[in-house]
Amino acid sequence: MNTGSSSPECPFGQIYHSLLDHYGPQYWWPAETPFEVMVGAILTQNTAWRNVEAAIDNLKGGNLLAADKIINCPDMQLAQLLRPSGYFNIKTTRLKNFCRFLQTAGFERLRELPTGELRRQLLAVNGVGPETADSILLYAFERPVFVIDAYTRRIFCRFGLVSGNEGYEALRQRFEGAVDASAAIYNEYHALIVRHAKSACRVKPACSECVLYDECAYAAK
Ligand code: SF4
Repeated sequence: MNTGSSSPECPFGQIYHSLLDHYGPQYWWPAETPFEVMVGAILTQNTAWRNVEAAIDNLKGGNLLAADKIINCPDMQLAQLLRPSGYFNIKTTRLKNFCRFLQTAGFERLRELPTGELRRQLLAVNGVGPETADSILLYAFERPVFVIDAYTRRIFCRFGLVSGNEGYEALRQRFEGAVDASAAIYNEYHALIVRHAKSACRVKPACSECVLYDECAYAAK
């Protein structure tokens, strides 16, 4: 994968390069098709990725990983397949909502929309919030939109680059203003943030093992 470049002069670029050097390319999103990316982005709300994988495996096992099949699947059956991902009744409704939107709009027609309009339409789907919409934009439609999640807030707040209390849009604009507008870089950067948050910058951080130790405000305390 082309992981692109981001200015090593700015701290956002320095962190990107340090994480990339340390962990290497992450080859995200872990999915075989854009549709699987979109399903995963919806199911990953409020749960760990391993639980999403189990639910997607259930859909694949039932030969249901397609918008029309999910729409036509009885709610109770779909909910049982989605059970490993948690909140399975809510996610049944949200996934069906999204599949109806996708089937009505058409993936190929959506691909032709400008990013701002596509984002607006995704956010209009009941159950799709900014993080889900941006994950879909970046990983399914390959648009240069930075995904902000709890890991991003944690790492960059500890590092001292954001307060952590900013709204989603303010943080997204902060990152997009600091990092080259490239889907390849945003793809890799978000994946590296998730990797780092799970490997070192956990809830209880392992600062002594961290590749960012020398520059981090939290570690300097
Ligand atoms: S030094 Fe500690 S707080 Fe800072 S990024 Fe690394 S693990 Fe997180």
